Amino acid sequence: MRTIRLGKTGITVPQNAFGALPIQRVSMDDAICLLRNAYDGGMRFFDTARAYSDSEEKVGKAFEGMRGKVFISSKTQATTREKFEEDLDTTLTNLKTDYIDIYQLHCAARCYNEDDEIYNALVEAKKQGKVRHIGITAHKIGVAEDIVKSGLYETLQFPFSYLASERDIRLAESCKEQDMGFIAMKGLSGGLLTDSAACMAFMSQFDVLPIWGIQRQTELDEWLSFFENEVTMTDDMKTVIDRDRNELLGEFCRGCGYCMPCTVDITINQCARMSQMIRRAPSQNWLTDHWQQEMLKIESCVECGICKTRCPYELDIPELLKKNLKDYKEILEGKEI
Ligand code: SF4
Ligand code: SF4
Repeated sequence: MRTIRLGKTGITVPQNAFGALPIQRVSMDDAICLLRNAYDGGMRFFDTARAYSDSEEKVGKAFEGMRGKVFISSKTQATTREKFEEDLDTTLTNLKTDYIDIYQLHCAARCYNEDDEIYNALVEAKKQGKVRHIGITAHKIGVAEDIVKSGLYETLQFPFSYLASERDIRLAESCKEQDMGFIAMKGLSGGLLTDSAACMAFMSQFDVLPIWGIQRQTELDEWLSFFENEVTMTDDMKTVIDRDRNELLGEFCRGCGYCMPCTVDITINQCARMSQMIRRAPSQNWLTDHWQQEMLKIESCVECGICKTRCPYELDIPELLKKNLKDYKEILEGKEI
C-alpha cells in the first residue's frame, strides 16, 4: 500500500482512508466496531463532519485512549465566527480530544480569504492549537481551482473518482505542485461505481488520499483487502473504466443529497439517478412497490426550483427527474435494460 503525504501538513498515511459519513446510519456499537476494525486493518485517517449527525461522537468513542495513533479530520458549515467557535467546541467534545488534525470549511460556496471572518476564525483556531491544519471542501471545480490558487489552505477535499475529467485531474496535479494535500471524496461516485479494485487502482496513480464511505463490515473488508493484495491498473480494469466513463460522463446525479429536502418530499438523491442505479445494481431492488411509489412522486414536482439552487453540480433536477421517470416507466412496461 502506498503512503500519501498530505502536502505541507506532513501527515503521512496509507492511501486508504475511512469516510465516516455512512456510520450515521448504524448503531453506536456497530460503528465503534467498524472503526476499530478499520484501524486494526491498517487505516489511519478518518474523516467526519459536524453535519454528519452523530458520526463525530462515534469516532470519538472508537478512538478514546488512542488519539495519537490516528489522524482525524472534521468539518464545519459555519459562515460566522460565533457559529464556527460553537461548532469547533462541539466537535472537540464529540471527538474527546483537544485538537483536530485537519479542520475544514465544509462545502465552500467560494474561496474564503483574509477578508472573511470564517477564514480568520479558522486561522486563529490553528494558532490556539485546537486545529493542527486548516482545510476546505468544495464540489465545484471553479471554486476548487480558486482555493488552490489562493495558497490559503493546507488541504482541499474534492470529489475524485475514475470518472474525473481532465480538469479534475489537473486540479489534483496543481495541489501537488502547491504542496497542498488532496483528500478525494466520492471515490465510488455516490455508489454508482461498484468495482472497488478498479477504483483503488485508479487512485493509486495519483497523490490523493481517498476516503471511502463505509457502513458495513463487508465493505470495509473489501478496502482492507488492498493492504494485503496491492492493486495496480490492469487491462481488465481499464475496460471497466472505459465502459463506465462512456455510460456515466456528463450530467449525472452523484447522490449527495445536498438538494434535499424536496418541497413535495421526492427522494431526489435516488430518483434522479434511478436510470443508472437500476442498470448497475441488481435491478429488482429498484422495482419494488416502495421504489415505484417513490418514483411516482416525481409527477407531483411543482417546479419550485429550490433543489436546483442547492445542487453543487448545477443539475437541472426537475428535468433529470422527468427523464428518469420516463425511463423507469418504460422499464416497468418491459423495456430491456
Ligand atoms: S423543483 Fe420539484 S424536485 Fe425540486 S424541490 Fe421543487 S418540487 Fe422538489
Ligand atoms: S441532484 Fe445534485 S444535489 Fe441532489 S443528490 Fe444529485 S448531485 Fe446531489
